[in-house]
Amino acid sequence: MIVYSHSDCLDHQPPGGHPECAARMQAVGQGLEGLSLERREAPPGEEAEVLRCHPQSYLDRMKTPVAPQDCIALDGDTWLSPGSHRAAMRAVGGITAAVDAVLAGEDATAFVAARPPGHHAETARAMGFCLYGTAAIGVKRALDHHGLARVALIDFDVHHGNGSQDLLWDEARCFLAGSQQMPLFPGTGSAEERGAHNQILNLALRPSTDGAHMRRLYEQRILPALSDYRPELLIVSAGFDAHARDPLAQLEWQSEDFAWLGSRLFELSGGRMVSTLEGGYDLPALAASTAAYIGAISALAK
Ligand SMILES: [Zn+2]
Repeated sequence: MIVYSHSDCLDHQPPGGHPECAARMQAVGQGLEGLSLERREAPPGEEAEVLRCHPQSYLDRMKTPVAPQDCIALDGDTWLSPGSHRAAMRAVGGITAAVDAVLAGEDATAFVAARPPGHHAETARAMGFCLYGTAAIGVKRALDHHGLARVALIDFDVHHGNGSQDLLWDEARCFLAGSQQMPLFPGTGSAEERGAHNQILNLALRPSTDGAHMRRLYEQRILPALSDYRPELLIVSAGFDAHARDPLAQLEWQSEDFAWLGSRLFELSGGRMVSTLEGGYDLPALAASTAAYIGAISALAK
């Protein structure tokens, strides 16, 4: 397992008290202590990678210089601080490098420990703490640069990845499946949303869904579809906010449920899997869940 990260990701600084804070990176780092991982610096992302998913006008807006001590509100909960763009570009560079490394056979799996997260960012709209659609950018890298024909993206963050869905709505070469609590922000993610090529699968979870129930639903719905798809590469939007302790949602998964999910996803990945950090806002739960997830995948990928 290769882990991509960078200290620039600490410099995205929404106003005080924001749940998507730099301490999340430190929690993930603590969670991964003691695991045998290859750690690499995430390179800065290339603008051409961003432009596979977002228009130039949007990129230019995200590059707006922000004065020291200032913070621009992009919407009610999404902020641009002086270091935000640089941080988001490390996430883009991390996913690009991770996809390249796994497809080059350097390792079977990689994890991008970066922030801000990405799966709520739509084509020309920052939202839900997210600036760039990191996971979708990784999908496009695999398809357009490496020429793959079948890439899967699985999103188990507790919130629906409306941004990934928007960016990949018309992408016939990608199977996108996600589970999300409903009702919950951002309000999308119902089973009726299936993509332009019937290539999107949304699984809505009721509040209080626990790990046992989640496992049954994944075994019934998402995992068979993933198995049938036979991806050449699996990208995972790994959000850990379905944990019972998370303050932003009401699911009841435990850290061992993320370990189970990581194992099952890796088993169906075709041996090439890249995960990228999305949500997770209770710091001890985030540390424990990330450790369980990465540990389980690493054990299988050896
Ligand atoms: Zn989330």
